[in-house]
Amino acid sequence: MPLKFEDENILEDNSIVYEGLTDLLGLDKAGLAKFFTSIGEKPFRSTQIMKWIHQFGVSDFDEMTNLSKALREKLKQTAIIRTPKIIAEQKSEDGTIKWLLEVDQKNSVEAVFIPEKNRGTLCISSQVGCALDCSFCATGKQGFNRNLENWEIIAQMWVANKALGCKPKEERIISNVVFMGMGEPLLNVTHTFPAARILMDDNAYGLSKRRVTISTAGVVPAIEKIKEALDVSLAISLHAPNNALRDELVPINQKYPLEKLMPALYDYVKDGHSKKHVTIEYVMLDKINDRVEHAEELIGLLGELPCKINLIPFNSFEGVDYVRSSNNAIHRFQDKLVQAGLKCTVRRTRGDDIDAACGQLAGKVSDRTKRTLKAIEIKTKS
Ligand code: SAH
Repeated sequence: MPLKFEDENILEDNSIVYEGLTDLLGLDKAGLAKFFTSIGEKPFRSTQIMKWIHQFGVSDFDEMTNLSKALREKLKQTAIIRTPKIIAEQKSEDGTIKWLLEVDQKNSVEAVFIPEKNRGTLCISSQVGCALDCSFCATGKQGFNRNLENWEIIAQMWVANKALGCKPKEERIISNVVFMGMGEPLLNVTHTFPAARILMDDNAYGLSKRRVTISTAGVVPAIEKIKEALDVSLAISLHAPNNALRDELVPINQKYPLEKLMPALYDYVKDGHSKKHVTIEYVMLDKINDRVEHAEELIGLLGELPCKINLIPFNSFEGVDYVRSSNNAIHRFQDKLVQAGLKCTVRRTRGDDIDAACGQLAGKVSDRTKRTLKAIEIKTKS
């Protein structure tokens, strides 16, 4: 069955106009400069407004006191700063917090904050649902509705800072951001990239490239594009050491098989781009991909690629048949990789009591792929 994906190569204008007003929340420095020029103002205004929006969490032009009254009035006539509503907030026993954010009347997405001893990670969504349908992921089962726009992506950071009561300039509670929530960020580069740039902009959140990670199931043309567009950390959801198994677990592999993906990864880390290595994510599924033979095959596949492997114990959800690998199997797998000289860690499961762990995010998706209907049909037939 041919797979069809949208937005693999687009890196164009990302300005969003809502009821005739330009939405400023999602505009990066270049986007804001362009907007100010278009209304006859000097581009340096973009620095001022960026600070107000992202460092002080202000969405009302009247509160931007270092802008003249005339400029504030002009902004009210031409622009808007929209922020999504928090519909629900859940807190896990381990301190993880999950927010459900309404992005339109039919859809909502989830963002998760994971506090740790020396850092706090925010996991954000890039799409409403996901079109990739990885067989072990709850988001995929929800189907797909649409790409999030740049303002809806960065709004998750904006809202999380507000909810945590911190002003990013004064106190950095969120030190890391990972695009590991709902959706495939590299099938939405038009909106993901400006959001990533805002995260790293010193006038906004000022996170370093080591602290912003885009995770992808392997959209090869977009991996090739990232290098030209921005410098961030990259994580690859590999999950299988060969095409036969990966075709099953991560169906986008049918379009971009390992012989296309692996050279793109070598190229990504070439010339010291990003952290000089990629993170390889590998979900641990009992008796599916967790045997010693799989570890050996993985060692062969990764070869000389500068990488770190992150083993993710499978997180279960309703209606799925996979089982998490035993601790023994996970450690046996890890040992094998370490013995071969690879760096390998096991991801600690966080927030699973509130369905906030990897692959458990589902939000509310008005499915346009009819996948949910198919799933119900299969369930009722069997
Ligand atoms: N589409 C992107 C980002 C979303 S998922 C990607 O594929 O990378 C973030 C990570 O969680 C991915 O590595 C994904 O494969 C993994 N994941 C998905 N479902 C999971 C589950 N049920 N248990 C553990 N990890 C899961």
